Amino acid sequence: MIFLDNTSTTKIYNEVNQEILKINSEYYFNPSALYKPSADVLKLINNAKENLAKCLGCEAKNVVFTSGATEANNMAILGNLTSNKDAEYLFSCGEHLSVFNPANNLKSMGKVVKFVNLKADGTLDTEDLKNKLSPLTHFVSVIMVSNETGAINNIKDIAKIVKNYNSKIIFHTDAVQAFGKIPFLVNDLNVDVVTLSAHKFHGPKGVGAIIIKQIEKIKPLLLGGGQQNNLRSGTENTSGYVAMSKSAEITCSKINENYSFISELRSYVKQQLLSKLKDVLVNEATNNSPYILSVSFKGLRGEVLLHMLEKKGVLIGIGSACSSKKPENRVLKEMKVDKNYILGSVRISFSAFNTLVEVKEATKIIVETVLELKEKMGV
Ligand code: PMP
Repeated sequence: MIFLDNTSTTKIYNEVNQEILKINSEYYFNPSALYKPSADVLKLINNAKENLAKCLGCEAKNVVFTSGATEANNMAILGNLTSNKDAEYLFSCGEHLSVFNPANNLKSMGKVVKFVNLKADGTLDTEDLKNKLSPLTHFVSVIMVSNETGAINNIKDIAKIVKNYNSKIIFHTDAVQAFGKIPFLVNDLNVDVVTLSAHKFHGPKGVGAIIIKQIEKIKPLLLGGGQQNNLRSGTENTSGYVAMSKSAEITCSKINENYSFISELRSYVKQQLLSKLKDVLVNEATNNSPYILSVSFKGLRGEVLLHMLEKKGVLIGIGSACSSKKPENRVLKEMKVDKNYILGSVRISFSAFNTLVEVKEATKIIVETVLELKEKMGV
């Protein structure tokens, strides 16, 4: 099996899996209890925060572990609401559903919600952002790397636009598809809130983090025992948090070498598809993550291609796994991808666990299968 759907999740590092086993069997004490073994567990959690903060270029006190990026994104939005009824909330049209759906929920709560357009290359239309900022803007959320196409938003520049307009606006970025892949340091970006998910960089599923610049300003989603400085109640998932920080350390230590290798994989697939097939679109920005290749085939159905490839041992995606039951890709639609192509879109995505040999093999299979399907469909 050749796994080329690494945007949906990644394989956990072996050494991280070992660490999870060790912590669950040796450090299972509740970190809130008063005896020494619990203090040792709390120390592990605090070390995990320190280590993750180092990889991110922020301080441990800014890190709050969560059950994943979905919770972190919900907290970023719902934890930053203001009582001002007229306050405006801005979201890019390229957000993941874990931002898009809470945004729509705000609308149904009677809040003023505006969506900022994407350009045809999938990046944020900053002119539209400038037009939509107003003295009432309270919160802005812009994804760092699109989980659909890999388009990279220049968050530093976008945050500058927002903060120059009004430094009090809260700026959030979902960095799930960026962290460990595209180098950035939180304190360098001038953002207030950042979201991460461990399983996108070879950590476990069900663990994430929210990075908050001013922790005293955000409200917790979960109330209870007051763990993590009252910001996220619930007995800590010690092994998950330690595992997340360990996978972050491993991934970040190899970020540049992985970037070059993955770029090579993506270029190979892209070049082969464009040279061997007709009526193919590559949905990408000039500054695109090498980890994601979004392609659209005229007249085909992405999910049919996906299942044909699955039978031949190649696993790819058709866009966000969380929304893949919906026929039309919302983000590609916002990018105004030609309607004859949009249903034939697939997402091929890489990780450092892939090899050039298997990617070459998969590419051969993809080309053959597209030709087979084209013949069947008469296109
Ligand atoms: N944001 C983005 C950009 C994502 O790609 C994902 C995962 N598909 C999420 C948020 C949700 O992450 P999690 O699975 O940790 O809830």
